[in-house]
Amino acid sequence: MSKQNGRILVGNLDESAKKARDFLMNKWPINDVLDWAIAFSLWPPHFTTSCCGCEFGAVAGPRFDPERYGFLPFVSARQTNILVIEGTMTRKMARAARIVWEQMPEPKFAMVMGACAMDGGIFWNSYNIVLAEEIGIPVHVYIPGCPPRPEAIARGILELQRKIREGGAFNIALSESKFEQKPVDFYKLK
Ligand code: SF4
Repeated sequence: MSKQNGRILVGNLDESAKKARDFLMNKWPINDVLDWAIAFSLWPPHFTTSCCGCEFGAVAGPRFDPERYGFLPFVSARQTNILVIEGTMTRKMARAARIVWEQMPEPKFAMVMGACAMDGGIFWNSYNIVLAEEIGIPVHVYIPGCPPRPEAIARGILELQRKIREGGAFNIALSESKFEQKPVDFYKLK
């Protein structure tokens, strides 16, 4: 209940404010501006699983300059929104990847690069290789290659931006995270 200009408003103002916010957020152009801002603010945490990380390091440098796309590798998982799995992921690193993923705020996205991250690559029959989907990380972009060239990674970033702006950041992130809550027993994988 609140008093305003001599009138008394009755009801749950917090709930009404939340409904008004949700209503506005789903309206054009606010929704479009939000998707545009998220698409040009893709920040991956510093997290390297394997040798594809060298190519990722190359793309993050000044020659390819991903900051022009708003793609900025960052130190803290809590301020990032795109997890890049860079090549082979062992069971030990899978646990770290899941911890980093859970610390990232919504809406968040995942990109895997390299044959090893896509289907195991040259380690396809190793006992200790884990794929992102197996630990509940929904993948939005796959970048093939061994290793992928920096141009391919740049293309992956542009494709994700297109996907976010066409499908809506929250729609894409939430629709593909339905198995995210599933607990993972890392000792029983494979
Ligand atoms: S895809 Fe090639 S470069 Fe990437 S992690 Fe596997 S072996 Fe290394």
